[in-house]
Order: sequence, then C-alpha cells, then structure tokens
Amino acid sequence: MSFSPFAAPLAVLPPCFPHDVPQDIRQDHKHEKDRELEVVADPKKTLTVATMKTFDALATVCVHDAGDVYAVALDLAKGINVVVASNHKAGVPVHALRRLEGVWHHMQTAARNADVTAIVQRSRKVAVFRTIPEFEALHRSFVIEQYRYSWPALLNRVHNEIARALDVVQRALNQPFTAVELVAAPGFAGYFAELQTAFLQKLSHRLADVTTGVLNCQRGDDDLVALHTLLHGAQDAVQPALREKNKDDKWMSELLDNLSRCSGVPVRGILQDFFALVSAVTHLSSFCHLRAFSRFEGLDVTVLAAKPVQGRFRIDPSHPDVYARVHFLYDASDDGLDLNFESDLEASIERPLRAYCIQLGDNDSVIDIHPEASLLNIVHTMCGAVAYIGTSSLACLYCYRLFQAHNADCEHKFLIRGSNGLPSVFWSAPGLPCSSSRVILQRLHDTLRRDFVRSAGVMYARRSLERRSEGSGRALQ
Ligand SMILES: [Zn+2]
Ligand SMILES: [Zn+2]
Repeated sequence: MSFSPFAAPLAVLPPCFPHDVPQDIRQDHKHEKDRELEVVADPKKTLTVATMKTFDALATVCVHDAGDVYAVALDLAKGINVVVASNHKAGVPVHALRRLEGVWHHMQTAARNADVTAIVQRSRKVAVFRTIPEFEALHRSFVIEQYRYSWPALLNRVHNEIARALDVVQRALNQPFTAVELVAAPGFAGYFAELQTAFLQKLSHRLADVTTGVLNCQRGDDDLVALHTLLHGAQDAVQPALREKNKDDKWMSELLDNLSRCSGVPVRGILQDFFALVSAVTHLSSFCHLRAFSRFEGLDVTVLAAKPVQGRFRIDPSHPDVYARVHFLYDASDDGLDLNFESDLEASIERPLRAYCIQLGDNDSVIDIHPEASLLNIVHTMCGAVAYIGTSSLACLYCYRLFQAHNADCEHKFLIRGSNGLPSVFWSAPGLPCSSSRVILQRLHDTLRRDFVRSAGVMYARRSLERRSEGSGRALQ
C-alpha cells in the first residue's frame, strides 16, 4: 500500500512551491535565552535558535559527497547521544561518524582554551570574539579540516545547483517571463521595479563570485580559509533574501519564490543548502565558546548510526481518485468537459508515472525512507530526545508535510528547519509509534491531495493557455 495515491502523480507535475511551506522556521522561535542549549530534565522546553542551528550544523558537517543527505537528533537522557541517519543504502558511512567525533573534539578543545574563554566571558557577543587572534587560530584549523572533508559536495553544488539558480536569476533579468510561465505565480507581473532589478543583479554577481571562488580554489590551507571568508561575505549579502517573510525585506524572498514558481527551480532552497556549510562552520565555531556549551565540554559524545529504514512503495499510473480530481478541473467551465482532458492526463501524469514503474521493475517495491522521516520514528522512542531534528539540506515537500501532520495530532512535537518545496517521486512514510498514527497518515494524505489539486490546476491553466496561443498563432498566418 502506498501512503497516498496522490503522492506520485504530484511528483511528476511541475513543482508549485506552496505558500505554507517555510524554508527556515528557526527565526520564528526566538527565545529570551536565545543562545543556550540547556541540559535540563525537559530539553523540549528550551528549544532555541542556537540549539536548532547547532543540530542543522552537525548534520551539515557530515556531508562529503554530492547527493549526501544527513539528519541528526540528540538524546540527552544519559550523556550526549548524537543519532545520525543518512541516505546511504549501506548505512551511515564511517567517515561521517568520525567527522562528527572530530568536530566535537574540536569544540571541546576550543572551549577549553583559556585565553579565548577569558575574552568570551568579558564579552558574550559572538561577533566580537570571531576577530580576536587567539580564536582565529582555532577557527582556522576547523575551517581547513571541514572544507577538505566537504570539498566533493561543495564543488558539485557549484557545478549544478548554483549554476541552475544563477541561470534563473540571469534569465529573469534578460527576458520577460511568458504568460504560460506566469500562470504558476498568481499576482506576480513578471517585470521588476528598479530596486528589484538592482537586487537581482547583485545576487547574480555574488553567485558568479562564489562559483569562481570555488572553481579557482587551489585548496592549500590559506586558499581554503580565503574561500570560507569569501563565502561568508556572500552569505551575509544574500541573507536578507533567504530569511522567511520578515517585514522590511520580505519582497526579496517573495521575489525569489516567484522566480521559482515560474521556472520550477527552488532558487531560495538552493541558496539555503549551499550556504549551510559556511553557516555550520561559523555557528559551531562560535557555539563552543558560549556559556551554555561549557556544561557539555567535559562530556564525551557518543555518535550512533541509525540503520536505514525501508518502506513499501507503489505507483498506480491511473488511480481512480487522481482521474476524478483531474476530471473535475477539466469539467469546471460552463462549456462542459474540456476535450483535452484525456490527452493532458496521459501526457502530464500517466505516461511519466508508467516510465517510473518501468524503472522500478516491480510495481510493489521497497524504498529507503528519507533520513529525517526515519529519525522522527527513532526519536519518538528516546526519552531525552530534543524536539528538533537537524538536516544537512532542506527537506522534501513530503517529509515536511509528514512533520506538519504529525505535530498537528501528536503531543510530542518535532521540528525540522523547513523544506525546499520539491515533491519526491520515491517516498514512503515511516512507521510512527504515536497512538494517533492513523489520523496523522490520513491528514498527510489530505494535505497531499490538496497540493496535487493545486499543481494539477496550474498544469491545466498552462496547457489551455499554450493551446490558445498556438491557435491564435495559426489564425494569424
Ligand atoms: Zn524527504
Ligand atoms: Zn508522535
């Protein structure tokens, strides 16, 4: 049984980037004690921005190869247990576990440095001690180690994702969007005010800069430190556009989201994932000097690899519920059923799904459950689990919807950072230990049906518009 007949059909339609899918929830959880990770009886009560950033950073430092995805949970019931899951078929690679232990060791060394600690205690502002010489040396060795480790993934992101994001930004600057492209972004006119053009030009220069910086890096110690500084500067510059809708500059993130809707490329998500490395290094490096970390420094961390979890998976290329929903869309006008219904359904949904079925071989297959989704199952059974799961990259749409559905119906809520809004063809829900698991899966199904109807609506509007413009083109000849 598949968890929802709408999931696979939604995944073959162009992505829609729903408005209710945030990419970074961390800033919404501002807390008075903003910079502390407390080891208290109920860690769920003290989930702060710094805690969440630390978890995401721990998952990010594991990333080594292109396509690596890691998720991290912490159990503080007895000492510190870091539970790691990855998308590697054979389980979490040993090099990732060693890397986490290495990072922890680095943080302990840094926290025990008396010179640095003395300065930090006088001034707790992170920005102040980042620039002092004693801190510099520790920070430098961390940067070099981490960039060497992460190099294959970093290089790949520049070659692929960043190149795609840069294409979209330059395309937007050079050529107006067509009416067909604009259908997916209601309310977006497709042309820019002077301020918006200036912002997109600046963004395009920054992305070109980081690309050159990575491609030209000779990878000596000094080169890696210089690259980190370059990326850090670029991240600071694009940061306002990456934040969720904060009131002063929300037009930037909205603009990027509209570019995504027109192009199908998750521009903001790509930038978030790319800058995750520089954020992780900066955050962990600062975090080890915060007052709260001193409670941890004597403790040894145990890094535990979660076993890969698999789930049943089935694609039905012509499910009656999917047929009925699309039929409803094509039958909405007064003129009766749009005659292109069958051919659009076949071309946009059934044919691509059949291609995936052939790829799978067996129609009723077993697939790997995404790391963050399998950790949701695992952390549920840990009594001292912190209510946040760190991720190395933004979750797919379905994992995000799973957490949303889970938190709506279970008293033990678990947060993840956010999602890039992209559906995933091969996805299955993990088993959930919650008493309300049936209600949760039903809610997940309902939400995906809603997402599907929205995506199919865009598909219908695009196809109709294409046909109309083809028709008027012929009439003019
Ligand atoms: Zn996922
Ligand atoms: Zn639950």
